Amino acid sequence: MPKTKPLKIDGSTGEGGGQIIRTALSLSMLTGIPVEIINIRAGRAKPGLMRQHLVCLQASQQISDATVSGAYLGSTAFSFSPHAIKSGDYSFDIGSAGSTSLVLQTLLPALLFANTDVSSKSTVTFKGGTHNPMAPTTDFLQQAFIPALAKLDMQVDIELQQAGFAPIGGGVIQATITPFMRRADSKPLQLTKRGDLIGIELVASTLNLEYDICKRELASARTALIESCIDEALIKSQGNKLHGIGEGNTCYALVTHKTTHKADSPDNYEQLHQEAFTLLGEKRSSAENVGSRLAGLVKRYLFQTDALVDEYLTDQLLLPLALSGGGEFTARVISGHTKTQAWLIEQFLPVEIKFNAIDDDKILVQVVC
Ligand code: AMP
Repeated sequence: MPKTKPLKIDGSTGEGGGQIIRTALSLSMLTGIPVEIINIRAGRAKPGLMRQHLVCLQASQQISDATVSGAYLGSTAFSFSPHAIKSGDYSFDIGSAGSTSLVLQTLLPALLFANTDVSSKSTVTFKGGTHNPMAPTTDFLQQAFIPALAKLDMQVDIELQQAGFAPIGGGVIQATITPFMRRADSKPLQLTKRGDLIGIELVASTLNLEYDICKRELASARTALIESCIDEALIKSQGNKLHGIGEGNTCYALVTHKTTHKADSPDNYEQLHQEAFTLLGEKRSSAENVGSRLAGLVKRYLFQTDALVDEYLTDQLLLPLALSGGGEFTARVISGHTKTQAWLIEQFLPVEIKFNAIDDDKILVQVVC
């Protein structure tokens, strides 16, 4: 029998997408509070649980030995009552091109806090899509999300074993998750002031498609950045051939800045911040067009704002921050996902998440524990 009364969550609240389900599962496992979710993805074209969401629910059930009802495709309501989280070796197959990143992000908080013995790492293999629209790609996780977690003393490694694109999927990633241990000298995260631009790395990759696509994407992105007066010496380009079944093309730009904190105070220290911007190639879009769109994402971040954290990392950072003592960062934009995420976290945890506009394109996000 669950000890606590279930928390009832209306899945159509705020942004109302799959993120509510995933974050509710993460928080339920972490706190032990059972959840009942209704109106799942009510406003979406195909409401209810899709394959990726169902695997999130089933995988969460497996790692926390939960009692579950309503776990089937298309279900618009489920209940979830967790028991103890077990670290260990797991393998989950989405069975479609659904996003492996989103399933991983659901389990990650629970496995980080499963055990405080750092030797009991969890190794989890996910099969499905590794490069999906509307989700973090494996590159985004490796280049932006994981480095941000490392600043919070959360140690996660992700290996891309096979790339998987829609419609076939067939991608494989393996995550190694070390139980969270906060260092005694850790400071709350402070990512507020953008310092010098250190570099821009452009990476284009193809899976079973002509390599020439990579070259054209890179050339187009590079030219567009140089035309915007970005120092050529700061831009590096790299093409890549991915392994896997199916076909696909993706590119990303990794933008690295120095961040300086509390100038003139004894607490002054410098670190680096990495933002990743990702795009997928599309049949109706030329490689040149994809490259110049990628450059456009970089330019918007560099020239429209001096905030450090861009849209997607903003919503993805809130939960790790709330679990690791809080902190603050500057964000370019507060999306519907971010507002919904903040609301949901506050339902479960004794934290306050504040958004204070500094100007039109910079908001101070504070997670107060
Ligand atoms: P949902 O729409 O509710 O399934 O949530 C989508 C999640 O994917 C959110 O956490 C977004 O931040 C994330 N996301 C969507 N697009 C991107 C992208 N291009 N790069 C990184 N993360 C993304």
